[in-house]
Amino acid sequence: MNVILLGAPGSGKGTQASRLQAALGLAHVASGDLFRYNLNNETELGMIAKSYMDRGELVPDDLTVKMVLKRMAQPDVLGGLLLDGFPRTVPQAEALDSALTDIGQQVDGVIHLYVDPDVLVERVGGRVICRKCQRPFHSINNPFITCPTNECHGEYLYHREDDHPDTVRKRIETYNAQTAPLVERYRARGLLVSISGDQEIDQVTEAMLTAANKFGG
Ligand code: AMP
Repeated sequence: MNVILLGAPGSGKGTQASRLQAALGLAHVASGDLFRYNLNNETELGMIAKSYMDRGELVPDDLTVKMVLKRMAQPDVLGGLLLDGFPRTVPQAEALDSALTDIGQQVDGVIHLYVDPDVLVERVGGRVICRKCQRPFHSINNPFITCPTNECHGEYLYHREDDHPDTVRKRIETYNAQTAPLVERYRARGLLVSISGDQEIDQVTEAMLTAANKFGG
């Protein structure tokens, strides 16, 4: 099963992806995490991506598609894929379709998380990320209490540079201009389920699991 998570920055994609991945046994592929990995390791791709990320803009499609398809070629993805943050543009969605067609697969479902724009800015403001496992936490809504996988004591938590309110506003604008059109695209194909991300975290997970269990069936 190949599932896409669509949603603006702060909609809860990352938090929910870790939960869904475990419950559904899918490989979690997050394009933002792949860029941050490259950035932390100071690769050439990371250095190029940084300038776009710092401005709240999208990294060009050719670089993004190449990076994600390389990740998708790894064996753990064969059992199914949970895509988080990709595709974000129409050309990326087309590249994904054609890569899946080449291996006799397809997108089985798309979960769209929607949240009021004011709530998005507030949520991202309180967000911290674990540098080790990439899981997001929130100072109020989802505080770090213990590590879900018992690997640390919170010593790797950090604020993403691009979570500054001005950059977040720009990222939301970018989402509305370049990514929101994908909502209609997948709706027209009968693949889309929209879920309010403005509920308790557990309720959102439950609604997403119910939706995912109907995909491909
Ligand atoms: P995220 O962690 O998903 O919020 O992504 C952080 C940043 O990485 C974005 O603001 C973009 O600059 C870049 N990025 C992540 N995914 C993509 C993508 N699919 N296409 C282009 N840029 C991306």
